Formats: sequence, structure tokens, C-alpha cells
Amino acid sequence: MASLPTVAIVGGGIGGLFAANALIAHGVPVTVYEQTPSLGEIGAGVFVTPNAVRQLERVGLGPAVESYGARVGSHSSYYRHDGSFIAPVQVTDANGWNACFGMHRADFVTLLASKLPAGIVHTGHRAVGFEQNADVARVTFANGAVAEADVVVGADGIHSEMRPFVFPPSKPVFHGTISYRGLIPRERLPNWPMDRWQMWAGPSRHFLVFPVRHGAMVNYVGFMPTDEEMKESWSAPGDPAVLRREFEGWDPRIEELLKQVDKTFRWALYDREPLPGWSKGRLTLLGDSAHPMLPHLGQGANQSIEDGMALATILAQTDRSAVPAALLAYERLRRERVAEVQLGARKHGLRVDSATGDLAQRDAELAAHAEFRKALYTYDVVTHARAAAQALKP
Ligand SMILES: Cc1cc2nc3c(=O)[nH]c(=O)nc-3n(C[C@H](O)[C@H](O)[C@H](O)COP(=O)(O)OP(=O)(O)OC[C@H]3O[C@@H](n4cnc5c(N)ncnc54)[C@H](O)[C@@H]3O)c2cc1C
Repeated sequence: MASLPTVAIVGGGIGGLFAANALIAHGVPVTVYEQTPSLGEIGAGVFVTPNAVRQLERVGLGPAVESYGARVGSHSSYYRHDGSFIAPVQVTDANGWNACFGMHRADFVTLLASKLPAGIVHTGHRAVGFEQNADVARVTFANGAVAEADVVVGADGIHSEMRPFVFPPSKPVFHGTISYRGLIPRERLPNWPMDRWQMWAGPSRHFLVFPVRHGAMVNYVGFMPTDEEMKESWSAPGDPAVLRREFEGWDPRIEELLKQVDKTFRWALYDREPLPGWSKGRLTLLGDSAHPMLPHLGQGANQSIEDGMALATILAQTDRSAVPAALLAYERLRRERVAEVQLGARKHGLRVDSATGDLAQRDAELAAHAEFRKALYTYDVVTHARAAAQALKP
């Protein structure tokens, strides 16, 4: 190998930080630029599944996932809105490996940053411009700094500044749903079972609960219809009384949980149509900047982790002169997989909102959904990325 490409990542969220870990594990030099002055303080629960945990283990983060996460097991279930059981939820891959964890987003960011050598992450750097030529890619920042690298990765989330340098800006698709989400300390719900992921599917609404932070907190999300198209935001405050009203008369367990809510955040649900392409020359996209998706399969963070491992596996086999072809190979590999998940998340959202009104059919589909999740969790992106890297060899 003549010379490995250098990589500059814009965005120190889950996707950008994991990609940095994966690139370092493959010996590829990397720097991360994050706009906020410090990493990751906002957010509630994210769900981490075996297809991503497999990759976290490969970069030595398996023990950290165990200690920060809350493993959910075989009692994970779908219920009707009144609390009657519908079906178990798949928590293992096809080999019976259970690696589904609830994780506080702030803990996830901390654990992803914890193994990076000092000097890799530059906070307080908001990317505002990009240019490239045949030899180099260049990012400019609002603070006046400039970064040059062989590859620039836009891992800068749903409002990506980098995406318009690849494709003309695309319109977010609003799905008429808003969610209220938040965290409750375990002491306030002493009888809540902390070993399971639970979802209640009801008419036009659904409610999700899983544990985070090794069982110290309960993460809840209530999804409901709305006409209000609010900005895609993770931090807009919501009114707990509205949330309680929306789920009045549901399973008493939900009503008990909602009594403990004194702070909640609203989150309007948007995604985008799958993009026709993610890369242009030396610039590529990763995570939500490439493929924002609805949360109904809990795959936003997990797919960004698959992206990072695919990119690192391919770039580790790439000479710096061959970067554009390598980025196209990465994009080809990821686009098809991610489009399936993006569209699958839309479909599953309609299902758990009982959109057709045929409840028997909904229940049958929820039971059958286990097979979809099993395949999703069994997929190993490294196998596919190695083949893609091999195919690039002259
Ligand atoms: C504050 C926040 C809270 C979230 N809370 C939840 C949650 O509770 N539950 C859930 O399921 N998902 C949550 N998400 C989304 C979830 O993290 C992502 O869907 C998923 O992890 C994919 O990660 P990503 O790295 O692509 O994007 P993100 O995790 O969104 O990370 C993008 C990063 O890029 C940075 N950035 C953006 N623009 C620039 C720029 N111009 N220059 C430099 N840096 C930039 C952002 O500050 C952020 O750190 C949250 C995201 C954010 C940013």
C-alpha cells in the first residue's frame, strides 16, 4: 500500500465519533470537527442493536457498551393500547446472540469519545464551507480555521451543511407525527421492569419504553398525530399535561409512568427520500446527513455505525490517489441497505399506529416482524465492505 488517505470528519455525533474509532482501528489518520463547545450533552435514549454492537466490539468498545447500556431481553414485547399482549420483540440475531441495549445518547457520545487519542476531536468548529480539487479537499469553519484532507466526511446530522456540496438541498418529509420523549429516574418507578423493551400500539399513536444507563433511568417516547410542522429539533420543550392527555385511558402502566413526568421534549418526525447519491469526488456523507430516517426501527444510530465501519474497511485498502472510486464503492454498498431500513421504518411506523384500522392484521404483522429484525441484526457490514474493497483492486 503506497499511502493511506487522511480523513477529516465534520460532526462529532454518534456516526462521526464511531467512524473515527473505526478509521483509527484500521490505521487511517483522522480528525473530527464538532460545532458544539463540548460533546454530546443533549438527547434521551437511543437503542443499540446487534448489527452495530458487533462493530463496536471490533473497535474494543464492547465492555463500554455493557457498562453504559441497559441490556434488554426476552421479555421485550408489543402490547395493544389496553396492555394486552400482542407478540414478543426480537432481541437476538439469527445465532441467538442478544446484544440489544438502551443507551443514553450522552453516554453513547462519551463512550465513543473515550478511546480516541487526545487531539483527534476539535470542538467549537462549525463547518461553513467546502471546496475540493483533484488533489485535496478543504473545509472552512466559522472560527476562521481551515482543514485539509484527502477525504472529507459529512457526519453532521439531519441539517447537514455538507450535504448541499454533494446534492442540491432536498426537502424534509414530514410524517404528521410528533413525539414527546424524556427520562425518568428509576427511583421514581421502583416497580418498572428494567430488563425489557416495551411498545404499546394503539389507534394513531404508540408508546415506547426502554431502560438506559445500566437501568438507572427509564426512557419513554409517546408518538402521536399532529398538524403542526415544527423544526426538526431535539431540544424543544413539551407540556407533560398534553402528553398525559394523549394517552389517557391506555394501559394503567403507562398512566402510572406518565404521572412521574415533569419534563418532556417534543420531536417532530421527519425523514428524507433516499438520496440518489452521497459522494462527490473527495466528499462523502455518513449517518443522518446521508439518510435521516424515522425512529420506528431504532436504527438511526445503528446505521451510522455500519456506515463508519464500511467506510473504514474500504479506505484501509485505498491509496490516496484512488479516493473518489473508493467513496463511490462505500456509497453503493450502503445506499441499498440503508434505503431498505429507511423505507422499513416508515412502514413499521404505520403498523404500530394501526394505520389501516385492521387490528387483527396489525397484530399478525407485529408477530411476523421478528423475522425482519432478525435479518437486520444478523447483517455484518464488514463482510460486504471487504468484498467491495476487493472489487476495487486492479
Ligand atoms: C442533540 C441531539 C440529540 C439527539 N437525541 C436523540 C434521542 O434522544 N433519541 C434518538 O433516537 N436520536 C437522537 N438523536 C439523533 C441520533 O443521534 C442520530 O439519529 C443518530 O445517532 C445518527 O447520528 P449522526 O452522527 O449521523 O448524527 P447526530 O448524532 O445528529 O450528530 C451530528 C453531529 O454533527 C454536529 N454538527 C452539525 N452541523 C455541524 C457543522 N456545520 N459543523 C460541525 N459539526 C456539526 C452536531 O452538533 C452533532 O454533534 C439526537 C441527535 C442530536 C444532535
